[in-house]
Amino acid sequence: MNFTNSNAIQQRANAAILGGVNSPSRSYKAVGGGAPVVMERGEGAYFYDVDGNKYIDYLAAYGPIIAGHAHPHITEAIKRAAENGVLYGTPTEYEVKFAEMLQEAIPSLEKVRFVNSGTEAVMTTIRVARAYTGRDKIIKFAGCYHGHSDLVLVAAGSGPSQLGTPDSAGVPKSVAQEVITVPFNDIEQFKEAFHHFGDQIAGVLVEPIVGNFGIVEPHEGFLEVVNEVAHAHGALVIYDEVITAFRFCYGGAQDLLGVKPDLTAFGKVIGGGLPIGAYGGRQDIMEHVAPLGPCYQAGTMAGNPLSMQAGIALLEVIKAEGTYEYLDKLGAMLEEGIAALINKYGIKANINRLKGAMTIYFTDEKVENYDQAEATDGEAFAKFFKLMLAEGINLAPSKYEAWFITIAHTEQDIKDTLVAVENSFKKMSL
Ligand code: PLP
Repeated sequence: MNFTNSNAIQQRANAAILGGVNSPSRSYKAVGGGAPVVMERGEGAYFYDVDGNKYIDYLAAYGPIIAGHAHPHITEAIKRAAENGVLYGTPTEYEVKFAEMLQEAIPSLEKVRFVNSGTEAVMTTIRVARAYTGRDKIIKFAGCYHGHSDLVLVAAGSGPSQLGTPDSAGVPKSVAQEVITVPFNDIEQFKEAFHHFGDQIAGVLVEPIVGNFGIVEPHEGFLEVVNEVAHAHGALVIYDEVITAFRFCYGGAQDLLGVKPDLTAFGKVIGGGLPIGAYGGRQDIMEHVAPLGPCYQAGTMAGNPLSMQAGIALLEVIKAEGTYEYLDKLGAMLEEGIAALINKYGIKANINRLKGAMTIYFTDEKVENYDQAEATDGEAFAKFFKLMLAEGINLAPSKYEAWFITIAHTEQDIKDTLVAVENSFKKMSL
């Protein structure tokens, strides 16, 4: 493949944009460096880069693009919306309709608010939980990413009885001290954290199905215990469904798993590719937010007509019968095909998959928590990533990210991907 134009643009990017990228995960730092490929156009399951190379895309913009790139129904909705003005700063019926659609899909959303990103949504749910409980501390799970607000860029202390430390320069130590981080799927440590800090905990922030150290499902009963223990101590349960909502079923992970949080944060998929976030939950809790209550949250761009209409169009598309069966079918085909190739070439790897989302971990061990994901072979992943890119397959440049299948992918795309995986494994096992 020729990357002449890509490299030239990336050089300009390095001169003009800090680090050459607008989000660190887009750089190839985690896969041994090099200039990231510069894409020009997306269509369905495919990307075309600025050198004319074509890729089957499994990045899906880190999750939002569940209907494929430039889906005609969503594109049409965005065009129509743009023609009527992109930002009003007044109420519109679009935001009402979209809120109603979310409530219909996810009954725990007694009240909803739109914001502009997953970061904002999570950040606000924490503030609301604090306002409601009058407490300051939160519990979160190791390795789960919840955006880049101060409170969630906090690393674990040395155990569940220890407070956190900043995980980014610029996060105050005092803020990190409000956060306790425990391993996902570890009920004992979770209970221990409550044992130590129970009456200070405002809320537990949890990805009900983890998407940020690969796809990791909760052990049976884990989320039920999270609810029981949190509620017994007067704390709220906040689901971060920024990745999971509408990814695995028409609704949230809460619908798929039959569990109910007090508050939920959304982003990614619900915007049809446009910037969006949303949060919502129990009415008695949400009533603490301005203008009804003393907890402040606002936004110039919040509920803008463009994102609302893109989101409505996206939900109309994926509500169609068969969406999730189709994603599951392609996911199973991809998983089974790769698993067979792992065996054939003696690659030390295994797969976690749920419907149309999966992760290949380069390890013998089944990954169920962050420590295990961290211990997987990053060099093997980096090699695999670059070989797959050369085969025309666009993956996220990190061993912790998921592959996302869209409804635009076809069985032929999966077959072509398996050929690319086989070619890559052959080279890896040389
Ligand atoms: N929560 C989860 C689970 C995420 O995966 C992300 C982003 O990857 C966020 C929150 C932050 O969302 P955003 O990037 O829209 O701010």
